[in-house]
Amino acid sequence: MSNRTTCPYCGVGCGVSATTDSQRVIAVSGDSEHPANRGRLCVKGSALHETTGPEERLLAPRVDGREYGWNIALDTLATRLEAIIHRHGPESVAMYLSGQLLTEDYYVANKLMKGFIGSAHVDTNSRLCMSSTVVGYKRAFGGDLQPCSYEDIDQAELMVLVGSNAAWNHPILYQRMVAAKAANPDRRVVLIDPRRTATADLADLHLALKPGSDALIFNAILAALAQRGALDEAFINAHTEGFDAALESAQATAGDLAEVARQADVPLADLEQLVDWFCTTERALTFFSQGVNQSSSGSDKVNSIINCHLATGRLGRPGMGPFSLTGQPNAMGGREVGGLANQLAAHMDFSQPEFIDRVGRFWQAPNMAQQEGYKAVQLFEAIERGEIKALWIMATNPLVSLPDTNRVRRALEKCELVIVSECMAHTDTLELADIVLPASGWSEKNGTVTNSERRISRQRGLVPPPGEAKHDWWIICELAKRMGYREAFDYTSPADIFREHARLSGFENNRSRGFDISALAELSDEGYDALKPIQWPVNEQAPEGTPRLFADGHFFTPSGRARLLPVTPQAPKQQPDSEYPLLVNSGRIRDQWHTMTRTGRAARLLQHHAEPFIEIHPTDAERFGVEHLQLAELHNDLGHYRGRIRISDQQRPGEVFIPMHWTRQFTQQGCSGSLFAPVVDPFSGQPESKQGRAALRPLQMRWEARLLVRKPLAIEGHWWTRVPLSHCTSYRLADSTPVANWRDWCEALTGTPSLWLEDLSNGRYRAAGISNQRLEWILLVEPNQELPDLDWLDEQFSREIDLDTRRQLLAAKAPGDQATGAMICSCFQVREPAILAAIAEGADSAQALGEQLKCGTNCGSCLPELKELIKVHAITDKSA
Ligand code: SF4
Repeated sequence: MSNRTTCPYCGVGCGVSATTDSQRVIAVSGDSEHPANRGRLCVKGSALHETTGPEERLLAPRVDGREYGWNIALDTLATRLEAIIHRHGPESVAMYLSGQLLTEDYYVANKLMKGFIGSAHVDTNSRLCMSSTVVGYKRAFGGDLQPCSYEDIDQAELMVLVGSNAAWNHPILYQRMVAAKAANPDRRVVLIDPRRTATADLADLHLALKPGSDALIFNAILAALAQRGALDEAFINAHTEGFDAALESAQATAGDLAEVARQADVPLADLEQLVDWFCTTERALTFFSQGVNQSSSGSDKVNSIINCHLATGRLGRPGMGPFSLTGQPNAMGGREVGGLANQLAAHMDFSQPEFIDRVGRFWQAPNMAQQEGYKAVQLFEAIERGEIKALWIMATNPLVSLPDTNRVRRALEKCELVIVSECMAHTDTLELADIVLPASGWSEKNGTVTNSERRISRQRGLVPPPGEAKHDWWIICELAKRMGYREAFDYTSPADIFREHARLSGFENNRSRGFDISALAELSDEGYDALKPIQWPVNEQAPEGTPRLFADGHFFTPSGRARLLPVTPQAPKQQPDSEYPLLVNSGRIRDQWHTMTRTGRAARLLQHHAEPFIEIHPTDAERFGVEHLQLAELHNDLGHYRGRIRISDQQRPGEVFIPMHWTRQFTQQGCSGSLFAPVVDPFSGQPESKQGRAALRPLQMRWEARLLVRKPLAIEGHWWTRVPLSHCTSYRLADSTPVANWRDWCEALTGTPSLWLEDLSNGRYRAAGISNQRLEWILLVEPNQELPDLDWLDEQFSREIDLDTRRQLLAAKAPGDQATGAMICSCFQVREPAILAAIAEGADSAQALGEQLKCGTNCGSCLPELKELIKVHAITDKSA
């Protein structure tokens, strides 16, 4: 079997070549033949093999806290679900799915619920990610149709990134943009984002706009296109509708550039520059991501962008188009099979009775749902009301990722039956499950995913699932059989499911739906296994796939014309006020993925940022009395978030940024979702997760410590963060209450006596516990900045401790006084001190640093940080 598979993280969808032993993947490299990445992997992809294996996996089904075999677990699940349906009707049960699922898993989950149980309450965490784009595309093009292809990056003359930190969140695509710019420095790159993110490093122009004013900017561009005679009248007349109303709205709201600049809080000259470039550059690509989508008016923002491309006819041809960068590995695949509550399968929905009828006939479904179900936030509200009695959560962690997580917790605690399918043994959501089903994970699962450019790739099962873990499609089908639907769910393999999915895409299609992969409906099992990455549509007209949509000017609306929409820019709903004066933005960081269930297993991925943080402008730090690296708390009427202060002029004053990843498995009170209100876009239901509000207070800690311990502990009563290392677990601890007796404290916490102690006074203290010449734990109470190198300490847990090492441990110094400091290049483990030393010795470019230290020469994600260090230290040197 091929060892080629696809990365399970972001929507770039990189191909991976994997080397395996009998249990796990032991090495990975980029698949040089995969068109998405052409052999490259980012740091997360490069560490994939460090996150596989049976450790920390969920290995057996559990019912009410007790382990059972699959037969009993599934029989119990079927009995309880049927009882609830019998008592309260089919709409009392729901599913909450994930963009991590494979298309085949998604397909059968959706079929069971919408066609056989008869409930459309099936939503997915893609709702939190790109559902506003789905609305925008459907309104404009008549279908959820992403027009562009990655190869457009190589041909674009202008690339505009809106609300997208591609350098960190789509690193391989970003590197393709870097390469395109290097090949032709005349190519323009514009970043529109309130923060000066790592992506700004590539930008010729950065508009640090006031959050939420994106639609205003694109309305201004549309008005300017008309004013400067830059419209494509022929295209507008032949292929669109709604132009006049859209333009009228743009002119009314954004006809005066100076006023737009004032409202968006950007320099007029910068706005004029953007408008000028957009008006005069034919090959323009506009990328947009969560910064646009996670908004209470995200759908309208998407349409304001699409309007500008339709008004200039800039789509369907090389190097141009509105290009949504999806967050999850299979967000697109989930959308293809109807994973959202307002969709049916194969890009049909509940808007027309003939769609419901068509899908019902194809499935021969006895109980077709007749109307759309609850979107994610509504779904959990319905659970809290007691309307939904049973919820099956698959491969996602809503207790962390949804807004107002405290309310989500209350809802799940009230829910009569919570079923969780999960591959990891410990997640916040699992703690509330009545029935736990162990699922297979990446490298075990077998099926397909679709990336941001509509490319379907195979994710292959390379090793067997550990313990009793089973594939999600199998679990769903086994349940369906127990509920009386054997014939409709009697699949023998994912290939079987894929062929049915492909047949449905072509069923009574007649060019009425853009999603059509009917040419793959007759794939043999061997053909499925060998399937090469291919972009849909794949049908009779395009058997080799379709790089670009709309080349023929045909759209999938009833008239066949694309629609421009009038857009009235809306301010975000969550606004700071005197009580909660800071605007809170949330997002991803470079080396982590979602709620860290996988990336949190790779120690090196936690070295770039090892704990939750609060990025804040220097003026706000002064205003709120917080210092760099001090612990602080954001709070509002919904919840609390604790993190370490990072002062940065990359933030706008009055705004802070917090990462979205940390959970109760990794820290105390570091869940970003607890601060955001469940405010949603009225069309897409997508939450406004880029704009919360909070007050900030410093946490006056009396001590900070690092505790490394062989086995994880349950820590209560202190602030803490956890980093799993190769041979031990490292905790950072802090508290505002002094510890009266460190010896008692250590021994009570770890359960083993301390053999050495050293009181260094001034609040500094060291102790270690040793058993049979092996280190069991070490405690270092030190000021945060002086905590020593983790790698060396971790290593000491793997061997016998001699006298020299005892002295070094208590001195908290590795032999040779190894450098510590921030991890900049995770791929080659190069830390900031080594980089600064190289700069001091004359390395004056990222290339020179790469030649000397290798940093930045693999995935390139750290290049913006390397350049920033060079810039800062070059300035320091000159001023010295
Ligand atoms: S860019 Fe990185 S995370 Fe995204 S698919 Fe590629 S390797 Fe995976």
